[in-house]
Amino acid sequence: MRPRRPTRQITLGNDRTGILRIGGDAPVSVQTMTAGYTHEIDACVAEIERYRRAGADAVRVAVPEKKDTEALPEILRQTRVPIVADVHFHYQRALEAVEAGVHKIRLNPGNITDREQVNAVIDACKAARIPIRVGVNEGSIIERRDKQKRMKELGAVFSDRKHGYLLAIMIAKLEEYLDIFHERGFDDVAISAKSMDAALVIDAYTEISQRFDYPLHLGVTHAGPRETGCIRSIAALSSLLANGIGDTIRISYASDHADEVKDGLELLYSLGLRERVGVDLIACPTCGRIQVDLFTLVQQVREALASQVTIPMKVAVMGCVVNGPGEAEGADVAVFAGDRRGIIYVQGQKVANVPEDQILPTLLRECLAFQGEVVAGRAKLGEKKVEIIPPDPLGELGSGWEKIAAGGVPLTVRRSG
Ligand code: SF4
Repeated sequence: MRPRRPTRQITLGNDRTGILRIGGDAPVSVQTMTAGYTHEIDACVAEIERYRRAGADAVRVAVPEKKDTEALPEILRQTRVPIVADVHFHYQRALEAVEAGVHKIRLNPGNITDREQVNAVIDACKAARIPIRVGVNEGSIIERRDKQKRMKELGAVFSDRKHGYLLAIMIAKLEEYLDIFHERGFDDVAISAKSMDAALVIDAYTEISQRFDYPLHLGVTHAGPRETGCIRSIAALSSLLANGIGDTIRISYASDHADEVKDGLELLYSLGLRERVGVDLIACPTCGRIQVDLFTLVQQVREALASQVTIPMKVAVMGCVVNGPGEAEGADVAVFAGDRRGIIYVQGQKVANVPEDQILPTLLRECLAFQGEVVAGRAKLGEKKVEIIPPDPLGELGSGWEKIAAGGVPLTVRRSG
């Protein structure tokens, strides 16, 4: 992991929504966008609230029509997360959104042809002290009229890259747009340069990060449903973030947008760029040694703990004692399954040995009890009171002993310290 690239910082929101800082020393944030119509106020508010509860730091709404910007004051009144208005083509929508009190504008100057109109939006945001994200999505920047000319002019700059001409146009366009903002004395800007191609996204943001110090909004656009969108997005974003590039992210799926938020947060947790909220679940992939229905158990544990555990407790669900102790070494609460049974440990201390149908309720009870101890200050997360090393209580796991013993892996529990 490289250190975060230094950038300027923008802020959005207020006392009611909380202040969100993007760039500088602020943690990398996660955004999403509503999928429904903004003018359907109740549904829009419900959607925003669902994303806020999933962990979104800001939510963007489309405002293609006047009835959408007219809905904004009520939406802003009812929601508790910074709201970004997404504007294309109609600069009036941006002015109306600013007037309504929106916390940030997303603008693509390339599809607002009149320079004076762009200036009017910049001046309105400046007066309202709200930032603008300048977006140059691959799909919306290429003016067909001069594409060939621009390819010839600029393509040579990145001729060694697979997407050389697109990269050149994206950067040239961005420079052109930012000049407009600079001339108006407006630096409260974040930048995005999205594409549906993960490799182009990596190249584009890498180049941009070397040219500008504005905070970067990362994303792979039109990435598809979660199955493919997840891989495309993580391929690009994890590479950039690991290289210190990126200040806020949106993963985009052609499916439930709450998953964009959950997966975005998980990416940041995995890279150590955000402090985890809630449970950190470790589970083994299972193999021929398994003697319980671990896949079902893991899903049940995940769902049960997601709504009830609020501290970053590490929980391990392991199929057997072969690799379990090592893999779950740092876990606060762990279960090692055997022959239709499970042995449960809290910070290394065995607290229960139960039949399969009692694993879930017992594990849940122990997790909640441990959470209570941590909240009361009587226990600390990540503390290891007992070291579990081979040999372990194989006998307690029933006939699993035979399978595991065949692999020659004895286990035991030894008190540490
Ligand atoms: S913990 Fe046991 S069941 Fe799970 S993958 Fe490892 S060896 Fe197989």
